[in-house]
This record gives sequence, C-alpha cells and structure tokens, in this order.
Amino acid sequence: MIVHFTKRTNRWLYVNHINPEILRREIIRLCRGKDNNNHPRVVINVKKSGRNSDYDPCGNIINIGRYSHSNNHKLIVKGFLRVLIHEIRHFIQYKIHKRVTNIAYTDYDFQKNNHRYFNDPLEKDARKFERKHLERLFKKIYSSIVWL
Ligand SMILES: [Zn+2]
Repeated sequence: MIVHFTKRTNRWLYVNHINPEILRREIIRLCRGKDNNNHPRVVINVKKSGRNSDYDPCGNIINIGRYSHSNNHKLIVKGFLRVLIHEIRHFIQYKIHKRVTNIAYTDYDFQKNNHRYFNDPLEKDARKFERKHLERLFKKIYSSIVWL
C-alpha cells in the first residue's frame, strides 16, 4: 500500500511538527486491520481552504478541510487526526470492503449535519472507527514529536 502526501500536506505536517514517516506507517496500519490483499494507493491532501473534508473514490484522494480556530497545538493535531481517521475509514469501506454508498443524503443534509447524513450506516461506521483509534493514534503521533 502506498500513502502519498501532497506538497501542501507535507508542509502542514512540517509546520505542525508531525513526522510524515510515522504518520504514513500508522495509516498503513489502520488499513491492514481487515483483509487487505490488494495494494491500493491513497493520496492525503490538506486543502488550501474550505472546512469540509471528504474522500474522493475516483482519484483515491482524502481531502482534509481547514476548520480549526484553535491555537492549541494539541487540539489542532487531534482535530486533524480525527478527520483523517474518519476519511480513511471511507477509503477502507470503498476500496477494501467494496462498499459503495448509495448517496442517501444530499449536500444540504451534510451542511446541516442532518439526521439522514448522521444515520447513514457508513457514516456511523466511520464515527465508530474514529472513536476506536483516535486516542491511541494521537498518543503515538504526539509522543513522537520532536520540538526543535
Ligand atoms: Zn463521513
């Protein structure tokens, strides 16, 4: 499996003192939880602007939105990892479990965080995946930060 960080993502990781190699290893580990005999390639892209994050199955791109208003480094890193884990789950659902969303919610539902979006089984599954992995991953990443 190949995890590619875009230039902007590498810059973001650098600014936030996150070691990209450690993060890459952890992403691969997250994806190997289930049957992963194929070797998909995934691109991680921190967006230039915009709050929304998504997984684009066409290009296999995980887009991470810019939404943090916090100056607290811990919260910024945690927020980033939460979104990353969530969107990685959508990648796993699509690429590894071969589950295709029948889009039961509209952009409007999404914007309003409506119950239709909220109750979508794939979204429920992605939130469960967040809860399962966030604390461990955060500890792992945060404890590996070297302050120069
Ligand atoms: Zn989602």
